[in-house]
Amino acid sequence: MSPPLLQVNDLKKHFPVKTGLFSRKSEFVYAVDGVSLEIARGETLSLVGESGCGKSTVGRAILRLFDITSGQVILDGKRIDDAAPGTMRQMRRRVQVVFQDPFSSLNPRMRVRDILAEPIRNFGLAKSAEDLEVRVTALMDTVRLPREALNRRPHEFSGGQRQRIGIARALAAEPELIVCDEAVSALDVSVKAQIVNLLQDLQSEFGLALLFISHDLAIVEHMTHRVAVMYLGKIVEVAPRRDIFAAPRHPYTKALLSAVPLPEPGAQRNPIILKGDVPSPINPPSGCRFHTRCPFVFDRCRTEEPTLRVAGAEQWVACHLEEGAPTAA
Ligand code: SF4
Repeated sequence: MSPPLLQVNDLKKHFPVKTGLFSRKSEFVYAVDGVSLEIARGETLSLVGESGCGKSTVGRAILRLFDITSGQVILDGKRIDDAAPGTMRQMRRRVQVVFQDPFSSLNPRMRVRDILAEPIRNFGLAKSAEDLEVRVTALMDTVRLPREALNRRPHEFSGGQRQRIGIARALAAEPELIVCDEAVSALDVSVKAQIVNLLQDLQSEFGLALLFISHDLAIVEHMTHRVAVMYLGKIVEVAPRRDIFAAPRHPYTKALLSAVPLPEPGAQRNPIILKGDVPSPINPPSGCRFHTRCPFVFDRCRTEEPTLRVAGAEQWVACHLEEGAPTAA
């Protein structure tokens, strides 16, 4: 088996927070607290969970938009979490991002031509001015936008078209991995489907790996190879798509999936309503972080943190129930 394109080992990102004007106590938001994952070349891994679970922080740590607290991020066998600026420049070319809001991530004063030319120039990919022009027009064809639109500015496009420009800009750097951070969340349902189809086509055409960060499991179900479920800064379950949607194991995954609408008209799942709110990541619960809301909680859950264990051929679950413990409170 070939080594993974991306490997994240025990990643932690704790953000310091001020607790009061005169307080000497330091507190931290435990945004990501020991996340490990792998992505193979050409694979889509979806990172899912409720808002605030830390999934976007994982994406931003991989992009090295900030320094991590501890752990390792390894791209193609080389650590990038502590890479020197020279090495990091090449790594940045290989890992690109598409953000949720294409309007705020595209410079409104720049024409599309210049937006697409910028990464090509920055990474020295064009051999000549002619080559630059060929690459820019080819990117428009690739994301199915008219070439005449190259001279327009972002505000002249619809939300879906702007997201196509964001994807073209990511592709301009010839990446191997694209982090899609809620990349379709702000779009209408029909436009969402078009952008997801485009991402899938691009993946097959260019052999891209995708880290697809989303809270929308209905979309994830149609486009991913594997799913990693996050809760309060930790991964609680990882599995191939077919396993996680057909037979989720972790109580939190089951609750999340129970809210996903079924495709057949009139068909309904039995929704699992979780009690309470997601606890604060400043003061996460002891033991299993899900214990304050879990319908199956028992004593051990309150004191002992479950680790990810093999639960199927390629399925990993962090829950004491996987160790033969009681199945009801
Ligand atoms: Fe629920 Fe306990 Fe499993 Fe956590 S370890 S998910 S609290 S049963």
